[in-house]
Amino acid sequence: MTTVAAYAAPAPKAPLERTTIERRAVREFDVLIDIKFAGICHSDIHQAREGWGEAIFPMVPGHEIAGIVSEVGPGVTKFKVGDRVGVGCLVDSCRECDNCKAGLEQHCTGGSVGTYNAIGKDGEPTYGGYSTHVVVDENFTVRIPDGLSLDVAAPLLCAGITTYSPLKQWGAGPGKKVAVVGLGGLGHMGVKIAHALGAEVTVLSQSLRKKDDGLKLGADHYYATSDPKTFEELAGSFDLIVSTVSAPLDFGAYLSLLKTGGALVNVGAPEEPIALNLFSLIGGNKTLAGSMIGGIAETQEMLDFCAEHGIGSEIELIGASEINEAYERVISSDVRYRFVIDTATI
Ligand SMILES: [Zn+2]
Ligand SMILES: [Zn+2]
Repeated sequence: MTTVAAYAAPAPKAPLERTTIERRAVREFDVLIDIKFAGICHSDIHQAREGWGEAIFPMVPGHEIAGIVSEVGPGVTKFKVGDRVGVGCLVDSCRECDNCKAGLEQHCTGGSVGTYNAIGKDGEPTYGGYSTHVVVDENFTVRIPDGLSLDVAAPLLCAGITTYSPLKQWGAGPGKKVAVVGLGGLGHMGVKIAHALGAEVTVLSQSLRKKDDGLKLGADHYYATSDPKTFEELAGSFDLIVSTVSAPLDFGAYLSLLKTGGALVNVGAPEEPIALNLFSLIGGNKTLAGSMIGGIAETQEMLDFCAEHGIGSEIELIGASEINEAYERVISSDVRYRFVIDTATI
């Protein structure tokens, strides 16, 4: 075991503070990663504040990890010391179920292990990326291509894959009209990736406050959802809508914006259930679907795609002492577009 520095929430809703944690000794198939950058995902806040239910404390959040391999176990074949690597939302799974075999480790029926706020197969709690080092099995570590800087790559490990996976799965590409709801950490990645996939991209945001940014990020059109005329004008317009907001949304209104046979895929995770009139699905053979991050192979595919297209996250780099302030700013949507912690400041 090695003692390393970290930022942790000692209890639900408590501010995060500097502390030390134990990382396991490197096992046969493990890599030790010298973490350089860790993104702040809205789900870090949901979990640190128990918005999604009871959680494990102390909690070291962080599942957007980018760093350099500094030690490898004797059985490791995928990585060597000095490699640029990332870790996303998962650090283990059963590896035997149908979903694991199909590369859908995030849906492992034997129980996948979250990067933090989870119990590993060794019975120990997992701690995330707000830390200087992490030990991860090589099969849950991905390669960050040379073309991507580690700071702007970190948020791809959650925000990038969360939007890439549904866009790919639901056919975003040339000739398709795709809307992205919300221009935050997830949404801005959705816009960049949908644009790079060749789709005609529309941002549906509460206001026009970020319109200039949206167009620069690759959107072709930008509408304010606070304006009721938007829903009249865009009725029946889209092949695919990806909703990235984690506040409750009027899904019925958004379904009315789909073409016949279109799909609305939700990747946001509001804390409250929603009500939906199912006639908004029946009329027009529409699909309301969900999508949760992506598997390990797909995460690698996403990183390679982003490197090829020069796509990183738009970030605000912060020191670790600014984490609590950053949390408040994420909640009030005051970040363009992802906070990334420089872990050298921990
Ligand atoms: Zn996340
Ligand atoms: Zn499994």
